Amino acid sequence: MADTVVVTPNSIRDKSSRFRMLTWVNALLKTDFKDVRQTSSGACHCQIMDCVIPGSVDMTKVKFDAQGEDDCKHNFSLLQEAFSKNGITRTIPVEELLKGDFKSSMEILKWFKSFHAQNMKSDEYDPVEARHSQDIAAFVASPSSRKSGESGTEENGTEATKAPYPYTKKWKDMFDWADPSALGDQHTFCRTCDRSLSTFHKGLFELRRHMETKKHKRRAEIAKRAARQSQRSEPLPCSDMAVQFIFKQCYTGSAKREQVSRRFARCKLGLKYPKDIASACQQTPYCVYIYEGVTLGEDDAVSVILVGFFDMEASRHRIRFLDAVQSVGGTGDQTVVETLKKFRVTHK
Ligand SMILES: [Zn+2]
Repeated sequence: MADTVVVTPNSIRDKSSRFRMLTWVNALLKTDFKDVRQTSSGACHCQIMDCVIPGSVDMTKVKFDAQGEDDCKHNFSLLQEAFSKNGITRTIPVEELLKGDFKSSMEILKWFKSFHAQNMKSDEYDPVEARHSQDIAAFVASPSSRKSGESGTEENGTEATKAPYPYTKKWKDMFDWADPSALGDQHTFCRTCDRSLSTFHKGLFELRRHMETKKHKRRAEIAKRAARQSQRSEPLPCSDMAVQFIFKQCYTGSAKREQVSRRFARCKLGLKYPKDIASACQQTPYCVYIYEGVTLGEDDAVSVILVGFFDMEASRHRIRFLDAVQSVGGTGDQTVVETLKKFRVTHK
């Protein structure tokens, strides 16, 4: 394929709207850009180039998360190199793109669209695989350079100048995955996806949008499953008598007792047991109920210890099973105290 003749479009008479351009680029690269200016980090252009002339850009060198000027310029230098190697003389308006200039973003995309249409021979290119499953971050021009870029914008229907949104801890309360980013307060680090999101311009809106992406949802699901798995395999801290008691009281199935009893008890007690009880009792007064002499087997008797408290989260009273202990002629205070201590049920 070394002798591929590259057709370079000269004048572009493409009258596509910004929406059509977005649809085109999103379909081609399997991305989710909402604004043509978000494609201006150079990463998209490098990939379109690689798509049209496979191997023309070393995809391992492209910075797909580029936001800063240096990273973007690095991408544009890769693109420039590929242009030179293939005898393409189109100039790339790097400065304008980095300012977030709408017109330049549109023009360069139109050029690429035409370049793609004229040279594309096969459609076997898998963009996600080619970039090793990395997302191309939506580029946001830095606020200082953006202003000058925006004044040159001719059509500006959707993007009114908005107050920027630096990262705030409040976001973490709403989205437990939204951590501060090492890149600074213009970004938010998604713990689930293990990457920084650019949230300076859209703030919560961007977080909500991100949460709805397929990738985030998939990763969140995997993380949830892993957490559940590890909780399930955590040993149950209650006694064997407690497990037997729960089984005897609640189990109505037909499976063999040895197989189900511990797992069954875990289900009944909840995956967060006993930590949820302990943390509730640390925040609110609680009371302890002791049922003595509860028969278990033929001649086994146990004392069942329950804890009552007001569940702030659910805003209702609750009585929870804590443990069952051997009752030898009445359960002594000491046994109860020790049990509470074992489960860290202590009021601070
Ligand atoms: Zn995420």
